[in-house]
Amino acid sequence: MNYDVAVIGGGPGGYVAAIRAAQLGGKVLLIEKEAMGGVCLNRGCIPTKTLLKSAEKWEDLKRSPEFGLKAEGIGFDFGAILARKNAVVAQLRGGIEQLVKSNGIDVVRGAAVLTGPNRLEVDIRGSGKKETFEARKIIIATGSVPSSIPVPGRDLPGVITSDELLELDQVPRSMLVIGAGVVGIEFTAIMRSFGCEVTIVEMLPSILPSVDSDLVKRLGLILRKLGIKTLVGARVTAFAAAEDGVAVTVDTGKDIQEFHIEKVLIATGRRPVLEGLGLEAAGIAHDRSGIVVNERMETSIAGIYAIGDVTGRSMLAHVASTAGMVAAENAMGLSSLMEYNAVPACIFTTPEIATVGLTEQEALDGGYAVKVSKFNFAANGKAVSMGESDGLVKIVADANSGKVLGMHILGPHASDLIMEGALAIRNNLTARDIAHTIHPHPTLAETVMESAHGIDGDIIHQIKQKKRV
Ligand code: NAD
Repeated sequence: MNYDVAVIGGGPGGYVAAIRAAQLGGKVLLIEKEAMGGVCLNRGCIPTKTLLKSAEKWEDLKRSPEFGLKAEGIGFDFGAILARKNAVVAQLRGGIEQLVKSNGIDVVRGAAVLTGPNRLEVDIRGSGKKETFEARKIIIATGSVPSSIPVPGRDLPGVITSDELLELDQVPRSMLVIGAGVVGIEFTAIMRSFGCEVTIVEMLPSILPSVDSDLVKRLGLILRKLGIKTLVGARVTAFAAAEDGVAVTVDTGKDIQEFHIEKVLIATGRRPVLEGLGLEAAGIAHDRSGIVVNERMETSIAGIYAIGDVTGRSMLAHVASTAGMVAAENAMGLSSLMEYNAVPACIFTTPEIATVGLTEQEALDGGYAVKVSKFNFAANGKAVSMGESDGLVKIVADANSGKVLGMHILGPHASDLIMEGALAIRNNLTARDIAHTIHPHPTLAETVMESAHGIDGDIIHQIKQKKRV
């Protein structure tokens, strides 16, 4: 065997798996057909967060008078914003390449096919040559691509996915977003901030269907205030070419409406990349939703592992990285299991959303005696001083034991604050454990402590409602 471990795919699942296997003393091969860093770095998390940062700074500039500041002649240059996004991506990509190299990992550029239980054939990029490699263990980390919808006119140039949206050199005047999931809502926030008129079409009865309903209601109000039109329970039935864009027919459930829009963003989910890998020939069990794995991240064929989006479960970069470490450790002879009970998920809107564990409804459906506490950022000194006091921290706990079952945050830095909830859930902590841990003042973290007090006893910074006689 040439290698102990071969990893197919250099995204946040694959490169982390490769590094972990190398740390454990393995001779490791990493095969990537495009750019190192995968969707997360090149077409996902990082470019969107970079655009979002520019959008937030722009919003801050517009709010200058509120903070006693004078900013005159302000504006933005979308070309420069894109250039910064590309520079950030390039810097981080270089960092990953260096990291991989410093761990002694061999990198091959090309597309890999499984040709035997321990064998891979790689179509070396740009050379027209194929090369065969052998490895004791193989980890598949080929990720996912945006899924499409079977609507006539889908191939018109104005109908795009997030991949193409990230490359637009101008902000469209108007955009219709199909799918109010994470991608749809995050791009809505960014594009609206730069002045684009956004309409969202979601087929389910609510936006962000997997998020706790209290947060969704609050976000719905924020979107409405920003002038974003949201049609839920609605479907797009046709696209047609129109002057300067696309004519979109929408069945709203009550009537048929037609929109003339510059760009249409399809954000209806992602599908795992399964094609061309030789899965059938290798006998690796899979279906349309992904490769089947056990909690060791091992496929139906011993010694072949799959991690991240290609498994179709929890398509999040941090889940892929964790699964990558689990797979690498098992491939190198350790015994590691993947856990999914405390997976934090963040949505980078303004303000942010972050959740972990069960929603109130899921806890009720799971048969728990549920106790819920909510604390508003409006009663937190730091949030008010920042001028970012919209939102709440909601804790869902087991009424009998006080154990934290879920934490749901809409507010500034929710994506950082959520880790207290993840740590609590993973370690079976109670709301009392959080409430009685001293939190520094003045910080946004106090909102988590106050909400936890609401489960354990009384919230300090909450005006008492007068009892009715
Ligand atoms: P998603 O599954 O989160 O949301 C897709 C939405 O589209 C759903 O609400 C669904 O009901 C709706 N939909 C599907 N078909 C439709 C149709 N024909 N008409 C109208 N609505 C339709 O998918 P996504 O937002 O594309 O994201 C893909 C994956 O990437 C998700 O797993 C997501 O968690 C992940 N992601 C994560 C982040 C993050 O962590 N911040 C950011 C982006 C994407």
